[in-house]
Amino acid sequence: MNLVFLGPAGSGKGTQAKKLEADFGVTQISTGDLLREAVRLGTDLGKQADPLMQQGKLVPDELVVGIIEERFQRGGLENGFLLDGFPRTLPQAEALDRMLERNGMKLDKVLSLEVPEELLYERITGRRSCPKCGTVYHVSAAPPKRAGFCDIDGEALIQRSDDSPEKLKNRLEVFRKEIPQVKQHYARQGLLAEIHGVGTPEGIYTEIRKALGR
Ligand code: AMP
Repeated sequence: MNLVFLGPAGSGKGTQAKKLEADFGVTQISTGDLLREAVRLGTDLGKQADPLMQQGKLVPDELVVGIIEERFQRGGLENGFLLDGFPRTLPQAEALDRMLERNGMKLDKVLSLEVPEELLYERITGRRSCPKCGTVYHVSAAPPKRAGFCDIDGEALIQRSDDSPEKLKNRLEVFRKEIPQVKQHYARQGLLAEIHGVGTPEGIYTEIRKALGR
């Protein structure tokens, strides 16, 4: 099963991706995670991406397409993949089409998580994550057992620097501007499924499974 997950910051893509990964063995590929890793390692790509990410702006298409190509070349995607945070623009979607065709692969579904913007602020500004294992918490909706520390490895939790209200505003503006074209692209291909992303994570997951016919 090869999937694309569309949805703004805070729509629950990451949470739902983990469930799909556990149930179907698909591999989550998050361009945000790959870019943050490049920044942490201080690679050339990381150095170019860092200031843009800090401002909530998009990293240029050719750089993001490049990291996706690299990830596909590394392999290990036999059980399918789930793209999280990519494509974010029409040129990225077109580049993905070409890349999949070259590799004899195709998409099975594009899931778009639909969440009203006012809910996203609350979700994102309360988000905390473990710098070591990547587990994501929310201060009120999904708190760790001990406030401020990861349940799994006890590390002190951090807040992403682009999860502040001002930076989130930028990220949502970019999303609102670019994503309708991406959705249209996949609607034309008959791949788009819009999922109502409000409710419990389990309820939303049930909707996703229905859309996938699984
Ligand atoms: P995310 O973790 O998906 O919210 O991504 C964090 C940041 O990484 C975004 O605000 C962008 O600066 C950058 N980024 C992630 N994915 C993409 C993409 N597909 N195209 C351009 N920039 C991206």
